[in-house]
Amino acid sequence: MKPVIALVGRPNVGKSTLFNRLTRSRDAIVADFPGLTRDRHYGHGRMGDRPFLVIDTGGFEPVTKDGIYHEMAKQTRQAVVEADIVIFIVDGRAGMNAHDQTIADDLRKTGRTVILAVNKAEGMRHANVTADFYALGLGEPVVISSAHGEGVRELLEYALDTVLAPAQDDWLEGAPEANDPFAHLDKLARDAAIETILKDKNGEADDSDEDSIDVETMQHAIKIAVVGRPNVGKSTLINTLIGEERVIAFDMPGTTRDAIEIEFERQGRQYVLIDTAGLRKRGKVFEAIEKFSVVKTLQAISNANVVVLMLDASQDVSEQDAHIAGFVLESGRALVVAVNKWDAVNSYERDRIKVDIVRKLVFLDFAKFHYTSALKGNGVDALLASVHEAHAAAFAKLSTPRLTRVLYNAVEHQAPPRKGSGGARPKMRYAHQGGQNPPVVVIHGNTLDDVPESYRRYLEGRFRDAFKLQGTPLRIEFRSTK
Ligand code: GDP
Ligand code: GDP
Repeated sequence: MKPVIALVGRPNVGKSTLFNRLTRSRDAIVADFPGLTRDRHYGHGRMGDRPFLVIDTGGFEPVTKDGIYHEMAKQTRQAVVEADIVIFIVDGRAGMNAHDQTIADDLRKTGRTVILAVNKAEGMRHANVTADFYALGLGEPVVISSAHGEGVRELLEYALDTVLAPAQDDWLEGAPEANDPFAHLDKLARDAAIETILKDKNGEADDSDEDSIDVETMQHAIKIAVVGRPNVGKSTLINTLIGEERVIAFDMPGTTRDAIEIEFERQGRQYVLIDTAGLRKRGKVFEAIEKFSVVKTLQAISNANVVVLMLDASQDVSEQDAHIAGFVLESGRALVVAVNKWDAVNSYERDRIKVDIVRKLVFLDFAKFHYTSALKGNGVDALLASVHEAHAAAFAKLSTPRLTRVLYNAVEHQAPPRKGSGGARPKMRYAHQGGQNPPVVVIHGNTLDDVPESYRRYLEGRFRDAFKLQGTPLRIEFRSTK
């Protein structure tokens, strides 16, 4: 699981500047697709070989009514609860502010580990910018300049190292109520949950689940994440696939794990479903969270081989659907789209709905669309067949000679345009495979730096056709040799 870092702080302290810096490398990919609203609040980042998720909460706006802060917006609160670590940003130029104190108090109540970062500190003496902020009671501040990148690496390293440190779970031993993530549960459920955690701590966790499938067999199982906005029918599909009893079992606090993965077999084939609903465990602490969680959706997508994106046929494609679709696209995972509740739409409406959905999600045109009823089980086996096809495409082995032949044919059919009038024409010499899930085709040659997007797409189409790559994104990279 990727560690989750939440950025919080009052407006204008530099949260989005820091967010952009932490996620920059991945930003451009989704932005390429017109009509796709990007969710700027969630991003993937990477430091060396350590990937992470960042959330820019942006939700601590003071509500002017009575000049006081409202309770944190629900989404913000959820983001903080789901984070492994919170970076609380304050403005080193503006100095300490009453709102900073309020936020610090709010954060303390969540029980999260908080790192205090004093931003905009370029060219300033550390001792001077930090002096005020010790009063927040959050320990030693880290001094950064998001705009100039100063101290950002150290901050990130510190944050990621802290995530790996053992979590605080002193509430187990009777710490204040506020930190007890089970406060909302009735006594029985609470005791069961605590017992499981204690077992876990003492290494007595019961792994001998009788219907667990052995590791050998599971290695070849396809990992599937079923994602979509609330109420599209994800749990119903999972029920249909694995049967009621198992779902009930995995919904109980006792069986909650970091990533809830459910193994199942259907028609002799093995699968692992990655759950995006229910309870989740963070560090050693359970939290009850909203039924729908962006963080979980992102985590599930990154852990899957194939994503099933579920839509509700009885409703218009919403912005939230497009956001989730954008996450899938950005991840590069193989994809199958399930337009669910097809039983509930009038047969006269069906053609119109199909056209409308395909038009709105045109950037997912590499994926197969299925029209399903998770409730009645209609279309579910066809959906799984496409999952297999997408999986095979995502892991296809593309040989250098064949790739190069397809490249030559493509260039012969339509040569890449010159750079400007009289400029050099790009020369494509050979192609090799640079990755799987998604497949990456690396094209080598000269003056490939300015190959236009339209030509890249043309090549993508040719490779796709030649290798029958349905259901997976395909990335094309150009590598020029001087
Ligand atoms: P947010 O509202 O917390 O997301 O803040 P923004 O990231 O939008 O930044 C608010 C303003 O502060 C912008 O004008 C930024 O250019 C500026 N800013 C952000 N980081 C720095 C920094 O490290 N140094 C300076 N001097 N300005 C910064
Ligand atoms: P989730 O939030 O995505 O997990 O959605 P649920 O599986 O909880 O389903 C939400 C509601 O939609 C429930 O009332 C389901 O019975 C209903 N539902 C799910 N799939 C279908 C379907 O294929 N057809 C119809 N008519 N209703 C469905």
